[in-house]
Amino acid sequence: MEEVRKLLDESSRRLQDISDLILENLTDETATAEISKLYGIANDMDIINNQTKIQQSALNNCKFTLSQVEEPWNCNIQQIFEENLEKDNNKKKNKNKDEFHSILQKYVNKKKNQDELDVVEEAHTAIDPWTKQPILQPVQSRECKHIYDKRSIACIIRNRNHFKCPYVGCQNIVTKEDLVDLD
Ligand SMILES: [Zn+2]
Repeated sequence: MEEVRKLLDESSRRLQDISDLILENLTDETATAEISKLYGIANDMDIINNQTKIQQSALNNCKFTLSQVEEPWNCNIQQIFEENLEKDNNKKKNKNKDEFHSILQKYVNKKKNQDELDVVEEAHTAIDPWTKQPILQPVQSRECKHIYDKRSIACIIRNRNHFKCPYVGCQNIVTKEDLVDLD
């Protein structure tokens, strides 16, 4: 039974690693869909965890019962175990814990908040690609996530609706509608 617990803890850590990869590499919409699959796995793990605890407790009760009888070798162990299992199942049905689900949920929420803080932090230390001055009023492209100073943007889009993202290697075409204020 301890082995099961070890495996579940290990899997729980794996789920967190995978959620990192998802949040770092996928767009918001796809990430949400993939993360919800991870929640499904965490739910299954909770079911296994609860079931294992019930079986452990039934096994302990079974051992206790056998230690109390005169001739344990004449007992139907299978039957005693199953009776205990049923009793525990009924007792604990309403108390199932969502331990691994909530571990993952806390982890994902923390990670998301951290990412948002990082973006704002980055925005306030970033250099505007046109003026090469520190960005004072950060504006971000929804598509490529690159950040510009609002004043530069005002000049750039004065006469047109879109521009090619000036960051080296970025091919994104940014429109007015793609821009989000980060302040
Ligand atoms: Zn870009």
